[in-house]
Amino acid sequence: MTESSPSAAPVSEVLSVPERVLLGPGPSMVNPRVLQAMMQNMIGYLDPDYVLMLEDVSGLLGDVFQTGDAATMALSGTGSAGMEAGLSSLLEPGDTVIVCICGFFGERMVDMATRVGANVVALRSEWGKTFPPEMLSDALEENPDVKLVAIIHAETSTGVRQPLEDISRLAREHGALFMVDAVTSLGGNNLSFDEWDIDYSYSATQKCLGCPPGLSPVAVSQRALDSIRSRETPPTSWYLDLSLNANYWYSPRVYHHTSPVSMVLALREGLRIVVEEGLENRFARHERNAAALRAGLEALGMEVVPPEDARLAQVTPVWIPEGVDDAEVRARLLSEYNIEIGKGLGQFDGKVWRFGLMGESSRADYVLLSLSALENILPTVGYEVAPGAAVSAASKTLASV
Ligand SMILES: *Cc1c(COP(=O)(O)O)cnc(C)c1O
Repeated sequence: MTESSPSAAPVSEVLSVPERVLLGPGPSMVNPRVLQAMMQNMIGYLDPDYVLMLEDVSGLLGDVFQTGDAATMALSGTGSAGMEAGLSSLLEPGDTVIVCICGFFGERMVDMATRVGANVVALRSEWGKTFPPEMLSDALEENPDVKLVAIIHAETSTGVRQPLEDISRLAREHGALFMVDAVTSLGGNNLSFDEWDIDYSYSATQKCLGCPPGLSPVAVSQRALDSIRSRETPPTSWYLDLSLNANYWYSPRVYHHTSPVSMVLALREGLRIVVEEGLENRFARHERNAAALRAGLEALGMEVVPPEDARLAQVTPVWIPEGVDDAEVRARLLSEYNIEIGKGLGQFDGKVWRFGLMGESSRADYVLLSLSALENILPTVGYEVAPGAAVSAASKTLASV
């Protein structure tokens, strides 16, 4: 055996994970109550006591997705599992799907739908702006046989919040199912599944729900379930088949795959915290802290990427100032202040920094800490700032909203 073989590698005695302040695009901070919930005893996936907890999770998800009769459950896997479950369950090979794209995650939908064998109509609009409904309207005229329209509600790559009412109405007028990525929006800004007539929406536990990564909470309309149950061919993914998963989360409650018990308990606690805070209070908290962060970043002379009326509270991308080393600043935030922020994705790689204030990470003290850290780091990398200006601007905003 060589010295570098895995079996020869030393294993440190105590597991030690540094205490980071997670201000990137996820994972975000986890509430200690959630970590406690994960330390409960192990239990069987059909134990009557566990079934009660599954019912709690379904009910709480109904509240958070704001739906009365959609099936609500948590898929095993991260947000991308929710995306893949939707595309592979709702589309058969040859079905037409229109994907509305104005950022990185829209492109991921195209990749997945193509693998499913669907006829993919990819509508690409400018990154950093909202997707224009007129583009969808034209595409629907050209593709009358469309089965599904898919879009991202909160584009984490560009910090844009997409209005969904017009998109939903257009999809419905053309008899298409409507799928919404709510990975970064659920628990962070308003998402009204019933009111916006959505057929399928999915999220992730690690963004605005205050839990570790590992589950994808989803809501499926009865119309979507009926469509899946009347398919001619079974979904290409067995594991992510939404109807098979629904048969475990709901009657007849049969075994499909082993439920990740500790993660489900974590989600139950995370959702209880969301409901205790209240959705409206939670959305207001995200808006207030984001406003303070933007004021601080602007006081540093930085420009927020999306225009004012399109901004998402959970993620604030700013253009990296000319001549400043992207990686160096992020590395120093991490090593000197324990702060993680996000880098740019896709065409924004090397061009933007993304500050996430999601769920448990949306706190005034984190806003002030990160701005203060930037005020200290930036002058040492050749970008002069007035000491105290950013923190002062953020404090003023916090005092006024
Ligand atoms: C993070 C994210 C995803 C992917 O989720 P994973 O949990 O990383 O699989 C999908 N869509 C959006 C909008 C996201 O922000």
